[in-house]
Amino acid sequence: MDFDISPTQRQFLDRVTAFMDEHIVPAIPRYEAEMNVLGAERWKVVQVVEELKAKAKAAGLWNFFMPPHSGQTHVDDTFVFEGVQLTNLEYSLIAEQLGKVGFASEVFNCSAPDTGNMEVLMRYGTLAQKERWLRPLMNGEIRSAFLMTEPDVASSDATNIETRIERDGDHYVINGRKWWSSGVGDPRCKVAIVFWCRWTRPASRSSACCRCSAMTTPRTATPR
Ligand SMILES: Cc1cc2nc3c(=O)[nH]c(=O)nc-3n(C[C@H](O)[C@H](O)[C@H](O)COP(=O)(O)OP(=O)(O)OC[C@H]3O[C@@H](n4cnc5c(N)ncnc54)[C@H](O)[C@@H]3O)c2cc1C
Repeated sequence: MDFDISPTQRQFLDRVTAFMDEHIVPAIPRYEAEMNVLGAERWKVVQVVEELKAKAKAAGLWNFFMPPHSGQTHVDDTFVFEGVQLTNLEYSLIAEQLGKVGFASEVFNCSAPDTGNMEVLMRYGTLAQKERWLRPLMNGEIRSAFLMTEPDVASSDATNIETRIERDGDHYVINGRKWWSSGVGDPRCKVAIVFWCRWTRPASRSSACCRCSAMTTPRTATPR
């Protein structure tokens, strides 16, 4: 197996490391001070992160994560995703650097669960869904959530999921209880990908699905 670093990977790794040293590490005291002021109201937009996001975007250090198109035909292949779009292997060493500072991933628009959610929207969304959710996520203007884990079942196995979804006229009703939902407390969180199960056990354990749901109603979040 070839573990050499490609020229592309080297170039971005060096630029990210320099940006971390020059802008992100020196901003840690300011970030901590802003978080202290927010206190229990921590689910707010942090100003220093917004300023760093603008700098990283201007420097072309943005959206590293989207792996190249696999060649499959998707529902829509017209949307152009803007960003560096490294392969997973190229991105891996950059992700290692970002992990050194808690808020660094958000600065480069590479934070979970937005990265995975953007990939799902890019691969499987319609053009309308992409314009509504993927574009503002890609631009770092909104946040998203991924709702899989449930309090009553071992949630690492998707076929255990108990949340149900039913069509009701021209919309769907989702019934279930989720927890450990990163990002849902963020005031900019506008979309959630919800995992639900089609069948009641033990009839079948083979059909877990996910669906996008717009976050339009007030919600409560328990800080952790
Ligand atoms: C910081 C943080 C952020 C998170 N953010 C999110 C989020 O945004 N959205 C979200 O949905 N979840 C989130 N989670 C939840 C996390 O993804 C879940 O903890 C995970 O899905 C595992 O589910 P569980 O806790 O129910 O553990 P379980 O499913 O009970 O698994 C516990 C262990 O048992 C093993 N196991 C389970 N069933 C079996 C089996 N049948 N046979 C053998 N081994 C088994 C598993 O492999 C695992 O090692 C977050 C968790 C953390 C800590």
